[in-house]
Amino acid sequence: MARPIEYISSIDDSKDLWKVAVRCKHLWSVTSSQNREHLELILFDSKLDLIQAIVPSYLVSKFKTQLELGCSYIMQNFKVSSNDFSFKSTDHKFKLIFCGSTSVKKVQLADIPLNHLKLIGINAIIEGKYRTNLLYDIIGGVTEISQAQIIPDNNKSKVVFSLTDLSKHDVQCTLWGKLAVQLNEYYTTHKADGSIILLLMNARIKEPQGNYPLNVSNAWNGTKLLINDLSIEEVKNLKEKLKDDLPTLSSSSMQMETTNTSVFSDLDKFVWKAEVLSLSDIAYLQTETTCVTVATLEKFECGQSGWYYDGCSECTKSVTLKDGKFMCYSKHISSEPVPRFKLEVLASDGKLKYKFVFWDVDCVKLIGKSALQMKLDLMETGDFDPLEFPYELDVMLKKELAIRAVFQPNKASLSVIGFKADEVLRTKIKERFKCEEHTSKIVVSTDDTRDDMHTASCTPTISTSEKQSHADPQTVSDPLSITAVMTLQLPTLHLHRQKDLFLRQLKNSTVPNYRPPR
Ligand SMILES: [Zn+2]
Repeated sequence: MARPIEYISSIDDSKDLWKVAVRCKHLWSVTSSQNREHLELILFDSKLDLIQAIVPSYLVSKFKTQLELGCSYIMQNFKVSSNDFSFKSTDHKFKLIFCGSTSVKKVQLADIPLNHLKLIGINAIIEGKYRTNLLYDIIGGVTEISQAQIIPDNNKSKVVFSLTDLSKHDVQCTLWGKLAVQLNEYYTTHKADGSIILLLMNARIKEPQGNYPLNVSNAWNGTKLLINDLSIEEVKNLKEKLKDDLPTLSSSSMQMETTNTSVFSDLDKFVWKAEVLSLSDIAYLQTETTCVTVATLEKFECGQSGWYYDGCSECTKSVTLKDGKFMCYSKHISSEPVPRFKLEVLASDGKLKYKFVFWDVDCVKLIGKSALQMKLDLMETGDFDPLEFPYELDVMLKKELAIRAVFQPNKASLSVIGFKADEVLRTKIKERFKCEEHTSKIVVSTDDTRDDMHTASCTPTISTSEKQSHADPQTVSDPLSITAVMTLQLPTLHLHRQKDLFLRQLKNSTVPNYRPPR
């Protein structure tokens, strides 16, 4: 005898042999940072209960062609595990995971409606009747577009607008990435077509925090945007009822002027995956952190070595003399070592000083001359002394720079991995530093020594973001591993870190309208 069909509401992890009659409400593909694809789907049954299911990477090719949005199926045999997504598409306690013995049979099931939305009204959102870890379907009419930043082929595109429904209340929405581009495309191709009713499926509601208002946005993945889709009854109804209350696309409140300033994207690139911190904030760090700060270079520190090191001719590592040959750590042979800058500079923000190590590539940019050329010039005039810091180096000093650097708890200095001298950019970065009240709690004299800094950096007050997957901290400030340091700038997406960073900046920011890129 065949197994009977069971309801989604009964599913738990007591067995694997579940057999359900369902319709596929939503289906999307997720590609991991390791470039592995898996599928996620949301299923509902005739009692309109929802459950999320996952097709793991190794089964994607098997099921991709069988699964189709809107179709109904008899499905059976799954692994059942707890619904532990940080943002849940359903409030079911469990999720289904497809396995080798999962069977999927496409069947016409008329008792399951074609659509089932998990709608939340704007009134309920404003009254806080939502869960921040649950994703919702939201329908509303666009009343105003306040900001649009469209950068094609870039997940930092965003559109900010207001949404209303029959409650007549407005809620702010921000669409990021592909959905922002989708809305912009609709906007540019339908300008004559009147107003916009949106359906956002699987959207996130962010509670208001500090200066940031309540906001509806897309989740990292799995949010679907339907614009003026009148095949959906609820969209059609709202369109009819709101039609006189919504501005048309051509009205002034709906002008989508796309910002595309180079300063903004330069800034985004420069602070990407870094914490924007004043020197005072850096003093609180306890774990390895890539940070961006602004400081004025004051003086060179003369440490264990001079102003340059003997570098490899093929890479930036240092060379040692072995059996009459100059060899670097990567075993490149150089006929002669190439001098490369390594300068320790004390920099100040007016309150606190910190030591930064500037490596060859940044020094050349700041000085406008290679270390080799500088050495050759000095030799020509007979002034060369390896321990004398050439006077020409001083052009680096007295400059205020935005500096990107790696903080390491076991080092007394920050290892520089980039800088910007642009004034607008420096100002924008300084605006992102947290408010002064906080920083003034650290009592440090302006002519302090490194020991004072050390004391400050041990103060256990602020927890820092999670450790990044950086190069071995022991080797970062060593010329041997400078290439490893340089590669840290490559952006990789990491949702949770970005979220932490975002929350931190939310807390810290004094700028009301700033939102970092996702
Ligand atoms: Zn080398």
